Amino acid sequence: MPANLKAIYQYGYAEHEYGHYLQEIFFGKSLYKDFIQYNSLQDTIINLGTDRHMYCWIETDANARAAYFFVNQFNKYDIHNDGLWPKIPKYYTIYP
Ligand SMILES: [Zn+2]
Repeated sequence: MPANLKAIYQYGYAEHEYGHYLQEIFFGKSLYKDFIQYNSLQDTIINLGTDRHMYCWIETDANARAAYFFVNQFNKYDIHNDGLWPKIPKYYTIYP
């Protein structure tokens, strides 16, 4: 989470990061570390400076898992806001 992030966004970020933790539980630590984190890092680097990374399946999947886990509090910045936290990937990243 960026240190200078506005407080209103921090709740959603925390939920999103928890979504990655839920992925780790679902996929298993080894697969998560060796494949998913590696792919996410590559996607971040490739799409630096664009909003494409937020539509990478790894990120949208984390949002969907977090939204399922956390109750909708009708806070417009939380994980249930599809504009900030998209749940459906637009771009697929396939790496060898
Ligand atoms: Zn993420």
